[in-house]
Amino acid sequence: MSSLSELYQQIALCQQCEIAKFRTKVVPGEGAEDADIMFIGEAPGWHEDQQGRPFVGPAGQFLDKLLESIDLNRQQVYIANVIKCRPTGNRDPLPTEIHNCRQWLDRQIEIISPRMIVTLGRYSMAMYFPGKSISKIHGMAQKRDNVIYYAMYHPAAALHQQSLKQAIEADMRKIPALLAETESVQETTPQPQQLSMFEG
Ligand code: URA
Repeated sequence: MSSLSELYQQIALCQQCEIAKFRTKVVPGEGAEDADIMFIGEAPGWHEDQQGRPFVGPAGQFLDKLLESIDLNRQQVYIANVIKCRPTGNRDPLPTEIHNCRQWLDRQIEIISPRMIVTLGRYSMAMYFPGKSISKIHGMAQKRDNVIYYAMYHPAAALHQQSLKQAIEADMRKIPALLAETESVQETTPQPQQLSMFEG
């Protein structure tokens, strides 16, 4: 059994939060165990809770299109969420839920060891870019410990707002070049301007 499958079994047993009682299915995440890119959204919604798969509703269909725009599909990347159970009534995740679920996300990152972590929306952004504002840092990359961190708007938000839609489409299109160009960049050397890198 793969390390991810073992992890999924452990996640399925987790009852740390109240919302675990109300879930139809737990939504651990899915994709390639050796993915270069990992996308991290917020929390499962109704569709995800029904199917046990991340990003399968309207936001997910948009994410699929965004991936397609850079010649990728969801089997080639890894898609996860900050929390693995659907918050009741579609509310925002609570700080305790994010805290309790962090162990699972950290373990996923450890197993997959992605070259690039893309945050989708403000909850995952807050984990990797604390104190930053999404309107300021979306589409900019930061390399830490050999991993590129990159913030994007949440596809659900972008679906309903034309300006955000254009921004998320443009930010997605930058990903292949970022991955390619940072391959040879050492962390100790100044970052080239065209990568839109910013200092922590
Ligand atoms: N929104 C998210 O953040 N994650 C999903 O899986 C679906 C919608």
